[in-house]
Amino acid sequence: MKSITANNSTIHFNESCYISLNEHVKANNFSKIFILVDENTHAHCLPLLLENLETTSSIEIIEIESGEMNKTIDTCVGVWNTLSDYNGDRKSLLINVGGGVITDLGGFVASTFKRGIAYINVPTSLLAMVDASVGGKTGVDLGHLKNQIGVISTPNLVLIDTSFLKTLPQNQMRSGLAEMLKHGLISNEMYWNKFKDMSDLSFDDLDDLIYESILIKKQVVDIDPLEVNLRKTLNFGHTLGHAIESYFLSNPDKPDLLHGEAIAIGIVLVSYISTQLVGLPIETTNDIKNVFRNYYGVVPIEKADYAAILQLLKYDKKNEHGHINFVLLEAIGRPKINCLVDDAIILDAFKFYKT
Ligand code: NAD
Repeated sequence: MKSITANNSTIHFNESCYISLNEHVKANNFSKIFILVDENTHAHCLPLLLENLETTSSIEIIEIESGEMNKTIDTCVGVWNTLSDYNGDRKSLLINVGGGVITDLGGFVASTFKRGIAYINVPTSLLAMVDASVGGKTGVDLGHLKNQIGVISTPNLVLIDTSFLKTLPQNQMRSGLAEMLKHGLISNEMYWNKFKDMSDLSFDDLDDLIYESILIKKQVVDIDPLEVNLRKTLNFGHTLGHAIESYFLSNPDKPDLLHGEAIAIGIVLVSYISTQLVGLPIETTNDIKNVFRNYYGVVPIEKADYAAILQLLKYDKKNEHGHINFVLLEAIGRPKINCLVDDAIILDAFKFYKT
């Protein structure tokens, strides 16, 4: 598969990724290589990476606990301390091997340690491959508010080895799938249609779908790296999705909800809102709801939850001048940014989601 270059960083795939890694490591003569993992990627992904990494530099493995609840500044402090204790200097390299939590947090740690050291992302979850791998967003959560602290910075390389997905749990695959569905909805009806029936999907097909998804995100980010306009379309489903994710994360009575599972709910909700406000045909909205229901079922969100979720919307990073900005869809492939939505329509959307 051909490499993709997105905002100054190149994404290499499968067979070419370790060749590029070794060329890069050799050319840069790093003083030390740190590899950030969590316990799952330590067990399932690190061995393959180490098998393929050729270097004479010393290697230190840093393991943090997996999970969104550990995407915090406290975890960063632990990693910064370890880098410092092991004499990390400005010529050190950090390789982040994991899902979006590891690549977001590791990217932020590297971008701020000694005002920035080199880093490479090796996304090992579907979500991290199709979404977090492109666009340079790094950061951590602040309490239960998602991604409030961070910087935009680009990894030196991104290495996508889809064989890592063989050990990824099924619910995590579904979580990543939500972003791929979103890419289809905001930009390409033909791509969206491919997800309507995936019963005969092979690993090669999946590789192609991942590649296409990354290309869609790259095209958007290339045109608008700073999220002034077009890049906002990638937030389709995310305003409500993030609020729902934060709410479930901070509420012990609620089941665990993965990022993509929350985004999936957000997408169905904004599709309904799109029909009400910008003319997305109701047949398309019903079709979207059915496709998502097929993959994700219906998550119990009760009337009693609505007020807290609406309240969390007020903290969305994309808000400007106190307005909550929604991305809606006029048609598949035709998103509309900066839409204001009344609370009453959001409440109706929750009803639509459940029926
Ligand atoms: P995650 O990093 O928590 O990974 C999911 C789980 O899968 C973890 O338990 C992890 O240990 C495990 N895992 C990862 N790869 C594995 C493998 N190959 N085999 C077995 N287990 C494996 O979650 P995620 O869904 O990858 O990422 C979610 C995060 O990504 C969120 O924090 C979100 O904000 C962030 N994100 C960032 C961007 C961006 O542009 N930077 C975009 C989308 C999402």
